[in-house]
Amino acid sequence: MAGRSASPAIGIELGTTYSCVAVWRHNRVEIIPNDQGNRTTPSCVTFKGTQRIIVGDAARNEAIRNPTNTVFAAKRLIGRRFSDPSVQSDMKLWSFKVIEGDGNRPDILVNYQGEETRFAAEEVSAMILTKMKEVAEAFLGCAIKDAIVTVPAYFNDAQRQATKDAGLIAGLNVMIIMDEPTAAAVAYGFDSNDVNSIVKKNVLIFDLGGGTFDVSLLSISNNVVEVKATAGDTHLGGEDFDNRMLNYFVQEFKRKQRKDISSNPRALRRLKTACEQAKRILSATTETDVHIDCLYEGMDFYSTISRTRFEELNIDLFNKCIETVKRCHEDAAIDKNNIDLVVLIGGSTRIPKVQQLLKDYFSGKDLYKSIHPDEAVACGAAIQAAKLSGQGTEEIENLVLIDVTPLSLGINTLGGITSVVIPRNTPIPVQKEKVFVTSVDFQSDVMFEIYEGEGVQSEGNNLLGQFVLSGIHPAPNGETKINVTFEIDKNGILHVSAEEPISGEKKQITLINREGRLSKDEIDRMLHEAERSRMEDDQFIKKILAKNAQEDVADLLGRMMNELQEIKSKLSEMSQYDNTYSNIGRSHYGGESSNFCNDHSEGRE
Ligand code: AMP
Repeated sequence: MAGRSASPAIGIELGTTYSCVAVWRHNRVEIIPNDQGNRTTPSCVTFKGTQRIIVGDAARNEAIRNPTNTVFAAKRLIGRRFSDPSVQSDMKLWSFKVIEGDGNRPDILVNYQGEETRFAAEEVSAMILTKMKEVAEAFLGCAIKDAIVTVPAYFNDAQRQATKDAGLIAGLNVMIIMDEPTAAAVAYGFDSNDVNSIVKKNVLIFDLGGGTFDVSLLSISNNVVEVKATAGDTHLGGEDFDNRMLNYFVQEFKRKQRKDISSNPRALRRLKTACEQAKRILSATTETDVHIDCLYEGMDFYSTISRTRFEELNIDLFNKCIETVKRCHEDAAIDKNNIDLVVLIGGSTRIPKVQQLLKDYFSGKDLYKSIHPDEAVACGAAIQAAKLSGQGTEEIENLVLIDVTPLSLGINTLGGITSVVIPRNTPIPVQKEKVFVTSVDFQSDVMFEIYEGEGVQSEGNNLLGQFVLSGIHPAPNGETKINVTFEIDKNGILHVSAEEPISGEKKQITLINREGRLSKDEIDRMLHEAERSRMEDDQFIKKILAKNAQEDVADLLGRMMNELQEIKSKLSEMSQYDNTYSNIGRSHYGGESSNFCNDHSEGRE
């Protein structure tokens, strides 16, 4: 059990709408409930004027009162550019502001401590990760450092690196970034015991959450969980279904009241919350009402929506999910009839139409719903965290995960075409070599631009990095050959090298495209600020506790004083009584020596 560390390593699912944290303890996975007793925590952060930053359930409750300073769905911004069409379209429906930051980065603009303040998506995600870390620390009673954070399998390099940066800012040692469907498959393998079986099972994980959609096809047996192929959409999930309903009702309000609420953040936020609730209800019933008092300029909103209408509004998105399933098993070269099990993960798989389309696609095959859709990913991450930290059982130690690269990687060639070196769904770690030739007569330098993505034209793909190989053997175009090697290590990091054999010139780079991403200095600054803010929080909490304790003491003293006062006045009453009757006695009997009993019996008459 080498590598066993003192405090447990945790698994965190950093979701678009909800996050979840789990730990391997007492030979099983435990989901850690938050301070409200909830097993998932809203991925929501509120900035309250002069107060502290609030994360989780309390932040979500603030969303309607404080819509412009309540941030949700930061996962939809992380690692993306401000000009990304999905960022541009999301911004229109969000009640908080997103503006262009350095290097085309989308920055979130809120009022914090009385000032307009920008936060990167990494920072907001770090606040959520910090909350999950604190939830675990409170539950386990020790400081937590090591964690596995999950991401959608279809996240690109920039989104993965940015999530890792968020972990750093939260003060975590992110052991690995793990793919959500792979984590879910590990959880399934342990739950069903299929991981120990010698019979190989092909399992399709269908993961439709709040903001992202992933499909992974895995084979499970003999302690090996092997990803065969993965496909998905990092911008498809419950948020989109809510937005379709939101747009529908905005139009209805416009038609009925001749008023456009789309530029009113508070009204939009209230309507959106009602849409999410209605969507959930429609998974159980066929029709529901949506009623909001004083939605806009004193006007109420009242409407009804049927499940059929909700399905019509989203059918293209639901069909897109099924097309992605098809692409995934075709990429793995596994016929759909050879898929043994379809496992549903993510809250949006509760939508009956999604289940029906999936069941139809697999010719009526039953869908596996026994694993908790909101918790499976965190469970799988906790199992893998136990393995990597040497804290698991023998069964966990023996577990082998074989992952794939989700996107094709290649080099930009003449005419702006990407020549693929490592195709998508290649198992990692991997090393591949390809020979390129010069395109200009007697050129002595060659520029290499490395792209990620499935587009034929480089322009539509994601530029990961570039370098120049100088001093190559000059010759007519097409004659000088250059060997290019792509290597993806076990952490999914790409290293590229190029060598021209005649001159012996060689160059190697490790690809991390930091354009639009946080610099090392920025990460350090944010980490420092997050720590300062944590200390301020601690002081704030200590102050509140001290104030509460003071108030308790004051309250106790007050009550004691009152009681004392009461006792005093009773005593004084009694002594007055005593005196009165004494006096009466005295006047009645006229003698100093008369006793109380006599006085009393006399006085009663
Ligand atoms: P996850 O990211 O897996 O926690 O999924 C969260 C998403 O699931 C949110 O968009 C929720 O609105 C959605 N969701 C949760 N429960 C239901 C339900 N009963 N019907 C439809 N969508 C749901």
